[in-house]
Amino acid sequence: MADKDYYKTLGVQKNATKEEIKKAFKKLALKYHPDRAPDDKKKEYEEEFKKINEAVSVLGDDKKRQQYDQYGSSSFQGGPGFEGFDFSDIMSQFRSGAFGNFDDVFDQLFGGSGRRSSSRGSDLLYETEITLEEAAQGTTQTLSLNKLERCPECSGRGATQFESCHHCHGSGYMKRTQRTPFGLFQQTGPCPYCRGRGELPQDSCAACAGEGAQRKKKKLEVTIPAGIEAGMRLRVPGEGEIGEQNGPAGDLYVQVQVKLHPYFERRENDLHITIPLSFTQAALGDEIEVPTINGKAKLTIPAGTASETVFRMRGKGLPSVHGHASGDEMVKVRIEVPSKLSRKQKDLLLQLHEDKPSQSFLKKIFG
Ligand SMILES: [Zn+2]
Ligand SMILES: [Zn+2]
Repeated sequence: MADKDYYKTLGVQKNATKEEIKKAFKKLALKYHPDRAPDDKKKEYEEEFKKINEAVSVLGDDKKRQQYDQYGSSSFQGGPGFEGFDFSDIMSQFRSGAFGNFDDVFDQLFGGSGRRSSSRGSDLLYETEITLEEAAQGTTQTLSLNKLERCPECSGRGATQFESCHHCHGSGYMKRTQRTPFGLFQQTGPCPYCRGRGELPQDSCAACAGEGAQRKKKKLEVTIPAGIEAGMRLRVPGEGEIGEQNGPAGDLYVQVQVKLHPYFERRENDLHITIPLSFTQAALGDEIEVPTINGKAKLTIPAGTASETVFRMRGKGLPSVHGHASGDEMVKVRIEVPSKLSRKQKDLLLQLHEDKPSQSFLKKIFG
């Protein structure tokens, strides 16, 4: 079977936009409308009309157009039109004048506004920042969202008045003819006019302009669990945007960043801090108070502690968001040498001055 050039049929470029395709189709469909055919050209016009319908059923549908661009028209077994639309039905409606508004046909062909099938709404991403203290204890945050919500006036249906679909007699299903290499087959599928709903809107909801959804500000409180790690995303099901045509809402993702702390450094669930210590505290030992993420804790410094020694305080780190054991707090002591001394301090230190480790070090090397 020779491949058909649908672009040529519609007289558009390969990179034509949907709008251009729609325009070209409209022009041709009006030109070759069977009602306009001169008596001696009825058959010709009908053939042409079928061709442009077939072309637009593919090029007007993003998915089918992609398939066509890649594999050609022969990739549509049994003809491209059977899935969405029975064109012989459209033809008969054109003839009978059932389509009052030509644009309605396009909307159906192009999946345009008004009768779209429902789909799940978009997910939303919200970024928020908390302090390390909040990460340690867990917190709640009130998010200010601006998102598509179901229209309360029409309960998301886009209209307030409905009537039973006359195309499918309210069943939502329709038999259509499928062309295959083996002949014509009848197939039952969802009614394309009411998208399987069995009823058609008779008006357009004023509150949402028929969209079934309205953009609204909403405050939402989310709980951020203790121990949350920077960059983690929390999923709040159903708090994304409402879907088209009353489709289910997407999810909300809250991405949590944790601010840097002036004193604590977090490594996984452990906290690291450096504490200044005097020479005498280090030499004689001491019991000191050190900051923790939730307050203070006592730490015993043994006599003879060297500078840069790290003490581990078990369980004083962050809790695990995964329910494992809490982290530890690692306290590094740094011995500070005073830059100014009082006379009394100087006198006391001079008494210690006889003991010079640098001299005994030299002696060790040179004997
Ligand atoms: Zn509404
Ligand atoms: Zn129907």
